[in-house]
Amino acid sequence: MRFDTRLLHDHQRPDPFTGAVNVPIYLSSTFRQIAPNRNQGWVYSRSGNPTRAALEAAIGALESGAGGLAFSSGLGALETLLGAFPSGSRIVSVDDLYGGTWRLFEHHRRQFGLRIDYVDMSDLDRLRSALRERADLVYVETPTNPLLRLVDLDGAIALAHRARARFAVDNTFATPALQRPIERGADIVLHSTTKYLGGHSDLVGGALALRSRRALRDFAWLQNAIGAVPGPFDCYLALRGLHTLGVRMRAHEQSARAVAEVLEGHRRVERVHYPGLSSHPQHRLAKRQMSGYGGIVSVELAGGRRAALAFLRKLRIFTLAESLGAVESLVDHPASMTHASVPRAEREAHGVTEGLVRLSCGIEDPADLADDVRSALRGT
Ligand SMILES: *Cc1c(COP(=O)(O)O)cnc(C)c1O
Repeated sequence: MRFDTRLLHDHQRPDPFTGAVNVPIYLSSTFRQIAPNRNQGWVYSRSGNPTRAALEAAIGALESGAGGLAFSSGLGALETLLGAFPSGSRIVSVDDLYGGTWRLFEHHRRQFGLRIDYVDMSDLDRLRSALRERADLVYVETPTNPLLRLVDLDGAIALAHRARARFAVDNTFATPALQRPIERGADIVLHSTTKYLGGHSDLVGGALALRSRRALRDFAWLQNAIGAVPGPFDCYLALRGLHTLGVRMRAHEQSARAVAEVLEGHRRVERVHYPGLSSHPQHRLAKRQMSGYGGIVSVELAGGRRAALAFLRKLRIFTLAESLGAVESLVDHPASMTHASVPRAEREAHGVTEGLVRLSCGIEDPADLADDVRSALRGT
C-alpha cells in the first residue's frame, strides 16, 4: 500500500466487537481482572489503553519502525527518551532546536549530569570532529525549528553509527508524509503530535517511533515508569488527524510556496528560509531526502524587531500564537515566544534574531495567504 492509503488502513481495522470503523475511545482507567494477575490484555491505562494502542501502532508503522509509543506532549516524549541516558552520557545535538527541547536538555545537564554539545551539522565535518570523543546519542531536528536548516540524514546517521552512538530525529516539521528517518537507519523518531500529526490545534501530544523491538520494549518500560501518557480522547483526535495527513501536507506546501514567493526578493525582507526555494542553501539535499518541503516559512525582516512587530500586527489571516502545523495559519515571533527560553546571546549567535518571524502556513486558499503577507509587509 502507498503512504496515503496506509494513513487510513495500516494497523487500523474496524472494531472486532461492533464493526465500528473508528477505534472506540476507551474511557477506562482500569480493566477487570479475571483472577489476580489474569486479564484480557489490558490492566491499567498508564500501562496501556486500546485507543492509545491504536495510535501507537499507526505512528510506529507510518514511521517504518518496530512500533510507536504515545505521550502527553512532545516534551513528555523527550523526557522519556532522556530517561534512557544515565548521568555522564554524552549527547551531540544539532544547534538550532525547538526552545523547549533546549530547555529540557539544559535541565538534564544541570540536574542529572548529562553532557550535551551543540553542533552546526549543516557541515558534517563538524559532526565528525564532535564524534571523535565518545557519544551516546546524536539528536537532530531536520528541518530545524525555526531556521529550516537541514541535516544530511544519510551522512549523519553513518557517522553516528560508526561512533556507536544512537541516532534520534525530531520529525515534527517534516512528518512521515515527507521524510521517514528510520528507513535511512535512524534509531528513534520523536514527534510533537500537537503539530502536523494532530493538525487541528485541538490537542497536545507526543510520540516516539523505534526502529528495533528491543528499543520499543525498553522505552515502553520507561513510558509506564515515568507516566507521561496521553488520555484516550487525545489519542483518538491524533488518530483522526493522521487520516488526512497526506492531503493536508500537500495543501500546507502549496500555501508555503505562495508565501515564500511573495517574501523572496521583497525589499523589506532580509532573508527567507524555506527549503523549497532554489535559493535555500540546502535545497538539493531537501530534494534528495524529503518528498516535499513542508508548510513552515521563516523570514527575517529588514527592519529588525520593530518591523517584525509591525508585520505581526498587520496580518489578518495568520493568528499570532505559539504552535504550528495546524489547518489554520499561525505566526510566531521566536525571539519573544517559542524560543524565549534560549538566552538572547545564544539565540542570536545561530541566527534567531529579533527580526525573525515564523509562519506556519495553513490550508486556506494560498492566494489569500499571499495577499495577507503582501499587505502586512507594506506596514513594516
Ligand atoms: C512543539 C515542538 C516540540 C514540543 O512538543 P510539545 O507537544 O509542545 O511538548 C518539540 N519539537 C518540535 C520541533 C516542536 O515544534
